[in-house]
Amino acid sequence: MIGLDSPCQYCHFAAQDNSYLCPTCLYEHVIRKILAIKPSTAENMQCADLFPDFLLADMDDFLIKDIEELLGCIYAELWTAIALMSSRIFEQVLKNHMKLNMNINVDEEVLGGCIKRLEKQGAPANLIAALTELRDTRNDAMHANKRFSPADSLELSRKVLSLVASVYNYRPKPNTMITLA
Ligand SMILES: [Zn+2]
Repeated sequence: MIGLDSPCQYCHFAAQDNSYLCPTCLYEHVIRKILAIKPSTAENMQCADLFPDFLLADMDDFLIKDIEELLGCIYAELWTAIALMSSRIFEQVLKNHMKLNMNINVDEEVLGGCIKRLEKQGAPANLIAALTELRDTRNDAMHANKRFSPADSLELSRKVLSLVASVYNYRPKPNTMITLA
């Protein structure tokens, strides 16, 4: 059954949805830093500057490398590259997380299908809503005619990095997963 309480790593109150951090601590300690990223603060920024160790531990090396490349693009103000890197990270993080941490192979699955599966697993509704919105933006980014303004690119990168934090903060345990029909 989904939703067994586990203590928040920082405040030790029960975290919801089998998460490392409660929503307040996730925002205060991780998301707030991500939302403040801008070219002038991204110089030499590393994943470890944004994500605590227990979130980093679940991320694979490719993801960490991609995120640091994205941070480099933000520092260099490469707006189109930021949108494309963000889209790539979005897709990778969603699929890798489902594969590695939830034992669901979604290599051949379209993004919409991945999101539906997460929903069936009992992922939080706000996470599902954020994923769906990012899926739509990602489709725009992959479309040749779509041009991203600096503000749009920066916002997309912050949303994707916030998503990385939210997804890796959510950690369903194998014995608590709902069986898929
Ligand atoms: Zn907390």
